[in-house]
Amino acid sequence: MNESTIVYTHTDEAPALATASFLPIVQAYAKAADVSIETRDISLSGRILSAFPERLKEDQKVSDALKELGQLATKPEANIIKLPNISASIPQLKAAIAELQAAGYDVPDYPEDASTDEEREARARYDRIKGSAVNPVLREGNSDRRAPLSVKAYARKHPHVNKPFAAGSKTRVATMGHDDFFSNEKSVVIPAADTLSIRFTAADGTETVLKSGLKVLEGEIVDSTFMSASALDAFLADTLKQAAADDVLYSVHLKATMMKVSDPIMFGHVVKAYFAEVFAKHGAALEAAGLTPNDGLGSILAGLSEVAGGDQIAADFTATIAAGPRLSYTNSDKGITNLHVPSDVIVDASMPALVRNGGKLWGVDGGEDDTLAVIPDSSYAGVYQATIEDVIANGPLDPATIGTVPNVGLMAQAAEEYGSHDKTFEIAADGRVDIVNAAGDVLITHNVHKGDIWRATQAKDIPIRDWVKLAVTRARASNTPAIFWLDEKRAHDAQIIAKVKTYLGDYDTTGLTIEIMAPAEATKYSLARIRKGEDTISVTGNVLRDYNTDLFPILEVGTSAKMLSIVPLLNGGGLFETGAGGSAPKHVQQLVEENFLRWDSLGEFFALAASLEHLSDTTGNKKALVLSSTLDRATGTFLEEDRSPGRKVGTIDNRGSHYYLALYWAQELATQTDDAELAAIFAPIAEALASQEETIIAELIAVQGKPADIGGYYKPDATKIVKVMRPSATLNKVIDSIN
Ligand code: NAP
Ligand code: MG
Repeated sequence: MNESTIVYTHTDEAPALATASFLPIVQAYAKAADVSIETRDISLSGRILSAFPERLKEDQKVSDALKELGQLATKPEANIIKLPNISASIPQLKAAIAELQAAGYDVPDYPEDASTDEEREARARYDRIKGSAVNPVLREGNSDRRAPLSVKAYARKHPHVNKPFAAGSKTRVATMGHDDFFSNEKSVVIPAADTLSIRFTAADGTETVLKSGLKVLEGEIVDSTFMSASALDAFLADTLKQAAADDVLYSVHLKATMMKVSDPIMFGHVVKAYFAEVFAKHGAALEAAGLTPNDGLGSILAGLSEVAGGDQIAADFTATIAAGPRLSYTNSDKGITNLHVPSDVIVDASMPALVRNGGKLWGVDGGEDDTLAVIPDSSYAGVYQATIEDVIANGPLDPATIGTVPNVGLMAQAAEEYGSHDKTFEIAADGRVDIVNAAGDVLITHNVHKGDIWRATQAKDIPIRDWVKLAVTRARASNTPAIFWLDEKRAHDAQIIAKVKTYLGDYDTTGLTIEIMAPAEATKYSLARIRKGEDTISVTGNVLRDYNTDLFPILEVGTSAKMLSIVPLLNGGGLFETGAGGSAPKHVQQLVEENFLRWDSLGEFFALAASLEHLSDTTGNKKALVLSSTLDRATGTFLEEDRSPGRKVGTIDNRGSHYYLALYWAQELATQTDDAELAAIFAPIAEALASQEETIIAELIAVQGKPADIGGYYKPDATKIVKVMRPSATLNKVIDSIN
């Protein structure tokens, strides 16, 4: 890797397909500025293959690109463009394994019940791959996410519709508020570097070490908490009654991908609560068949065909749904309920979509209705309830006039809940969980019962200092009030508040508005301000970073795809994420069915411009700066001319939108006056692209409307992808002629 290198991640699903069209353009333009673009495969399939080298043939082996990038992220020369990737649920992981096996890769099955050493080893390797396994490794810095001015300007000119809540809307959030993660939390600040262990002592005195060798640094915040299984079950039974009494749809909103240990278990509790009678009757048979509610109803139903009496059990599930309370559906046509797949409904995307849709979700017949949105833990549920109340009281937010809520998020070095899966345990028996230091002192203790979900989280001091600095920097740079969303009633937040107050003292904050508010209060405050057209930075912990960068963008600009997401790395490098959204699995489906890809690459354009600017700053490559500023202007034109992908066959999709970006970028390069060499290279390119617009668009649209073969889902065929994603010979010829 030379110093003028940008590393692009090769990931999954829609973003991976989209960049197969965009990246060749980027590489050609970058080369003209002596910038090389390398790719690293961190896709789910790539990560699986890299975990089992000893089982693969020589030509099948792949290196551990994620590990390599994790190391790069700690170095000053890091310049990484990160596309969204799959955070695999167990069903997705199993599907990926099956696809690889069918393609001749001898990777092991996912051992549900590992009984041999070999199975335990395979299970451990897979557990490192599943869920949110990529971002915590790369995020060696805190997060700065905002809607660029050009995006806000576009939204003001072309506002999407935030639907009003109907008069008398019954939609609301149900949350526990007691005996949950929020209320049971305890927190300590570590006085000196130490090594901790997590110890479970059963009521009969038997000790089990749940985790050992947990290194912590001076000033690190360590908390632990638990969700009471019995309180959760009582709460769920009660919410089912409430939904029936209100005659609304029942929906549950978790984050089974990121909270990959705790949330599938909670999802399983919901499935068991809803189908209580079925589990009372058939629970043992289901368990014997290895069918767990944690994987969702879909996975149980799929497995029943191989169980004796499975038809009867399936019929009992169906009868329960018919008897109600009415479930919400993610796909009414295909009969997929909210309880089918743990990773289908993800709170950060699902709740804003619900608000945007007037508080309504879909029912069995595809009709819309109000819902009881069940968010068991009360840490952040209040954010959504406050949003719903605001919209009911004041009407929908108008994208044409509202201000913006950018985010400064704590996430460096796996701060807070991200990554807490390695410290989350479903408790095996009644007893006590202690966090113990090297000297044997108990730092935190919790009395727990069988089935409780206990977890610990960490936040190191250096990331917290850096986060406070980033908040002040952004508040100053954008002259915008900054609100720390922290709740003094929460043990963890109380520790953070103390640090924030100390570290704010390091900066001159005269003239700045910097306040601390609990999340629900901060929500109301920020919403009241955006209604007046005013902006407010939300400075949040890691989970709210994730939630808020979907919530506000979706309400403000219709999607989180158009966000600028910068991660200034602690050691001076840059990580540039492409939007705040995920990998849009349903867009892949549309591509395969009708050769149309709706993925919007705008976030990738913004990330690239920021990455090129950073590269120029760190290496002095002036041409990179010209590429960056021209790309910025081209993106502005792209938005003004409304060249994002359409939704239907016959309009331009992702590939057509890349053509227009290439055209505008070449035109900007051809006419800028900072670098004559670049202008000379791109003048004929701009001319060739402009004069052949009609031919290129016709070639791109001609392929639409029939199925596309990409030769695999988790590991599609590279040659087939190039064929599908670069179908215009005319465009390819121009791009390939650069340099
Ligand atoms: P998602 O992929 O963001 O999809 C939700 C919806 O957002 C999509 O169906 C689409 O809605 C819209 N969307 C998001 N980005 C878009 C874009 N660039 N262009 C067009 N539409 C876009 O969220 P999800 O379904 O919750 O998650 C899917 C997968 O992505 C999961 O495996 C998840 O873990 C992963 N994920 C990864 C990251 C990351 O790596 N940074 C972040 C979030 C999620 P419409 O079709 O209705 O427009
Ligand atoms: Mg999110």
